[in-house]
Amino acid sequence: MNIEKGKNVMVVSAILTLLVAVLKGIVGYISGSVALTADALHSLSDVLGPIAVYFGLKLAQKEPNTKFPYGYSRAESLASLAVSFIIFITGIEILKQSIEKFDNPTPIHHHFAAIFVMVVSLVITYYLYWYKAKVGKEIGSDAMIGEGAHSLVDFYTTIAVLFAVIGSYFGYYIVEPIVGGIISLIVIILGLKMIKKDIYMLMDYCDEETAEKIKNITLSVRGVEGAHHLKARKSGPYLFCDIHIEVDENLPFKSAHKISEEVVDKIKENIKNISDITVHIDPVKKRYIKVAIPTDEINGNIMDFGIAPWFSVAKYFVFTNIDTYKQIINNIEIKENPAKNLNKKRGIKITDFLINNGVDGVIVKAIGAGTYNALGNNYIKIIKTDKNTIKEAIEEFISILKSD
Ligand SMILES: [Zn+2]
Ligand SMILES: [Zn+2]
Repeated sequence: MNIEKGKNVMVVSAILTLLVAVLKGIVGYISGSVALTADALHSLSDVLGPIAVYFGLKLAQKEPNTKFPYGYSRAESLASLAVSFIIFITGIEILKQSIEKFDNPTPIHHHFAAIFVMVVSLVITYYLYWYKAKVGKEIGSDAMIGEGAHSLVDFYTTIAVLFAVIGSYFGYYIVEPIVGGIISLIVIILGLKMIKKDIYMLMDYCDEETAEKIKNITLSVRGVEGAHHLKARKSGPYLFCDIHIEVDENLPFKSAHKISEEVVDKIKENIKNISDITVHIDPVKKRYIKVAIPTDEINGNIMDFGIAPWFSVAKYFVFTNIDTYKQIINNIEIKENPAKNLNKKRGIKITDFLINNGVDGVIVKAIGAGTYNALGNNYIKIIKTDKNTIKEAIEEFISILKSD
């Protein structure tokens, strides 16, 4: 509904601005005022840009086919580039006329028609400024508020033209080409900016901020150990993205694929207008693996503690960080099981706890189905053991690493 409201504002704005542009253009032509003609072009460029974008968007929404498998999203940039170029060229033309008139100032004709049109334009432009600022605040759209600010600038340039026309009426012919020259310079700069934007789009540009955001989202997905070769590109209104993710080489293919799907979903959720994401999976060997082992003991040497018979009701978990390159224990610590007294949802609570502690796998004697599934869904590896002490279990685990 908000978007509908925003759309309505833009339609009203386009119609009124087009009206203003046509009025200024006609009177600019019959009065011979370069200032008015330049301002007409300015108004025209204000309205043609959005119109080109609108029709470009329509075309961009066309379904891809075998001839254009990536769709028609570039159409927007192409349409916009054509319009930007016309604006730029016309701006230069009026700048030339202004310079000629500056060298040889001549009066303009039909002053009152010109003044009338400028006053009408002033009222309309100020109304557009007020309307866009109001709706922009209502729907919380920065773009709309920015549009409003633009209308305010248009309002001031229109005042300058009005002064130029009045000046000409009182015999100050020189004011008019000066105002015309300044406005045509503004139009030229606007045109150049638009051309730059369009070319960026056509050249597969992507701003670093978006790329950084995509990378961070990717890294936040559980099971993603790293990410590289991120390539994002804007194509018209859409964003395409390729990324390589690094996942543990020991994960089953199904799990690795699921992680890649989660990456896609999470990026789509958080980045606007993303249309296509290709995820390539690279297997990596993790250097450090954190393993949790359940125990009921707390006093003495951790390595001599017995392994608790049942995983989820154990009093404590021993966390050990193993360096898989050197195949040694990096560090070892013990933490209380936060779920040991729970009657329900123990598996979920423990899984959250283990995830927060960065655990990759657990070594167990016996485990309930709920906990087993919760751990498995989060890619925490479950290793069964017959050993009795922490020391034996870790030694067994390291010997498995060696044989890998
Ligand atoms: Zn403008
Ligand atoms: Zn790669």
